[in-house]
Amino acid sequence: MVVYGTRPEAIKVAPVITALEASEVLDVVTVVTGQHREMLDQVNDLFGIVPDHDLDVFEHGASLSRIVARVLERLDPVLEAQRPAAVVVQGDTSTSTAAALAAFHRQIPVVHVEAGLRSGDIASPFPEEANRKLTSQLAALHLAPTATSKANLLRESVDGADVVVTGNTVIDALLASAGRRTPFTDPALEALADAGGRVLLVTTHRRENWGEAMEGVGRAIARLARQFPDLTVVLPAHRNPVVREAVLPQVAGLGNVLVTEPLPYGEFTRLLGVATVVLTDSGGVQEEAPSLGKPVLVMRDNTERPEAVEAGTVRLIGTDEERIVAEVATLLTDAGAYTAMAQAANPYGDGAAAERVVAAIAQLLGRGVRLGEFGVQQVK
Ligand code: UDP
Repeated sequence: MVVYGTRPEAIKVAPVITALEASEVLDVVTVVTGQHREMLDQVNDLFGIVPDHDLDVFEHGASLSRIVARVLERLDPVLEAQRPAAVVVQGDTSTSTAAALAAFHRQIPVVHVEAGLRSGDIASPFPEEANRKLTSQLAALHLAPTATSKANLLRESVDGADVVVTGNTVIDALLASAGRRTPFTDPALEALADAGGRVLLVTTHRRENWGEAMEGVGRAIARLARQFPDLTVVLPAHRNPVVREAVLPQVAGLGNVLVTEPLPYGEFTRLLGVATVVLTDSGGVQEEAPSLGKPVLVMRDNTERPEAVEAGTVRLIGTDEERIVAEVATLLTDAGAYTAMAQAANPYGDGAAAERVVAAIAQLLGRGVRLGEFGVQQVK
């Protein structure tokens, strides 16, 4: 049983569900919690997934505890009725931790996909750092995307026999999507892709940046748009009203700032390919953009994804308005600085992660053998 509830989880489990559907030794049941609503349905539609169960927990403005409580309460009867051999959860959301706990309570083995990421700061990203550590305590099988994340788990005394380095399934999703070259729904984006001008792609949603920090991000975008009139800033705005209220008033009325609704995954990944520079606080985008050779400036002070920082394609710049303006301006004016960051690096995956995930689950359930690990040459 695969349980997921938000856009980033859906993108990362879609290749796993597809591989499970193709498996000759495992059956798959899919459960969405509906922690996100439209953004989740968008991804299911794209990958042709029709969930078997929908817990429909979404409520406007629900607290984290409310989300966790509703997932626990609504998933338990499904677990009781279905009695799956294992429950697969992904990453670090409230959905994944609550689903892991519900499965644990029913003594069903928990498989954790994208295990072992650590920022080292329980307050950032919030609540994700705590969520993934809690899930590690409950999991029977830890599927680490990289050797670095495996090392984090071993440092916390997880038994190495229960950890497999699979690569990140987001690269499977990205490669599947890049092969499709999705048309843009918004004609302005299609025109932008045709024109071939410079594009700054911005996404922001992190809870710890809500409020003043996010307003500063909005002001920085506005200043950059004025300073570089030839630049188009594209801002697919997150559904969360807290995010919209902080950022959108700052950029209102600027002709070269294009605010869109959240883009379907196929359109978003195509836009990543069109972008000159990516400015983001997203986890998934930090993993995808380096594969496409795009410099990524991350509006956070730390990251649980150090691999691309070490490879030189991602830089952590925090949320200070002046620093954001300065860092983006450097990449737009200094060709040497740009070229140094615009290296295609793929430290997160090779497109075969889902296959390794499914083989490891089959092995856990006595139905197969594991495949070779991803990127063993990266072990430190
Ligand atoms: N994404 C998308 N449409 C958008 C913005 C992002 O499909 O308009 C995708 C993006 O490619 C990435 C994922 O959503 O795979 C990241 O989601 P988000 O930033 O919400 O969450 P995080 O990765 O930070 O947990």
